[in-house]
Amino acid sequence: MTTAFSKRTVVPVTELEQSAFCQTDGNLRTKTLEEEFKAGVRWQKVPTRYLKLTPEEIAEGIAFARKEIGSKAVLLGHHYQRDDVIQFADFTGDSYKLSKMAAAAKDAKWIIFCGVHFMAETADILTSPDQNVLLPNMAAGCSMADMAVPRDVQDCWDDIATVLGTTERVIPITYMNSAAAIKAHCGRNGGLVCTSSNADKAFDWALERGDKILFLPDQHLGRNTGIAKGISEDDMVVWNPFLPKGGLTDSEIKAAKVLLWQGHCSVHTRFTVNQIAAARERNTETNIIVHPECTRDVVAAADMYGSTEFILETVAAAPAGTSWGIGTEISMVRRLAAQNPDKDIFCLDPVVCPCATMYRIHPAYVLWVLEGIMAGLAINRIEVELGTRRDALVALERMLEIAG
Ligand code: SF4
Repeated sequence: MTTAFSKRTVVPVTELEQSAFCQTDGNLRTKTLEEEFKAGVRWQKVPTRYLKLTPEEIAEGIAFARKEIGSKAVLLGHHYQRDDVIQFADFTGDSYKLSKMAAAAKDAKWIIFCGVHFMAETADILTSPDQNVLLPNMAAGCSMADMAVPRDVQDCWDDIATVLGTTERVIPITYMNSAAAIKAHCGRNGGLVCTSSNADKAFDWALERGDKILFLPDQHLGRNTGIAKGISEDDMVVWNPFLPKGGLTDSEIKAAKVLLWQGHCSVHTRFTVNQIAAARERNTETNIIVHPECTRDVVAAADMYGSTEFILETVAAAPAGTSWGIGTEISMVRRLAAQNPDKDIFCLDPVVCPCATMYRIHPAYVLWVLEGIMAGLAINRIEVELGTRRDALVALERMLEIAG
């Protein structure tokens, strides 16, 4: 069944805004919220007193609030957060590692998730109902997650079922970077969640139980994983949610081994083969390491690729004097360079382009949420609806089983 939704030509607002933060002078110094608002992008409204606070005043306020609240609050910081937020994190990590930490923080009544919306949802699903997961800025979404709208995914699922009938079984896999409703869809329909570090195991799991995979929402992670598993590019097709039946013929759907949702990360698709060539021209000894959300040609041209944690661990463990050209988010690359002054570490993209939505967690929002806790308020609590939570948990637990 194809509904009117299939004809929409919607580009997520977060995608359009991505370039608003790209700068050529390379200055990522935190300014007052009022100054950062002038970039002209959407932010969540906040009481006016937070607008003019200087970074120093905010840091002082956060330190005071953390001391007052004590161990009842845990602050989690994703690797792509700015330094002025990371400095207050109890734990740092990628989305998977942070979700596991949220689940392990059983004594914490408050979990302040400095990351993006889908991560806070996952933390809420994995924690107990009496724990409060707070997202400091509700406008901190993810352009990739926004590309898989639940109604469009259901349309796709129905269309595929109409074409295949009962002849073949499709297993849906969704990348962690998706809304809870998409995870729930996978849980309800015999599928699972994966991360960039266990996508290969998720492929194995799915192909042991079904004939085809529907991979959501990042086509690049899906394609890179499929190729690494020995699936030919010809056996993978892209489902365009804006076209009837994904823009595919019945024969293409029947012949495909993997159906890739047409989604991408606006940060990781900035990396190019030309940037890799320029890095190697500068230093023939440079090691190129990229994230699997990069396009196929970039991953193929790199020396190695892997999850954010893999990149971090590999570069940190490398011998002094080595050179690393990295294809992932700039805030993490810069921090890695500062922590490893004995190595030459640089971002492949010469334009400084942080993830626009991660960047929305300005420290003033963190202070706002902490002061709310001190006043007994749960500002920006993320609560996944019960049915969605139950089905999404099924898909997450399947992933935890294969990931060990
Ligand atoms: S880096 Fe890409 S996938 Fe990660 S939060 Fe930003 S837009 Fe989403």
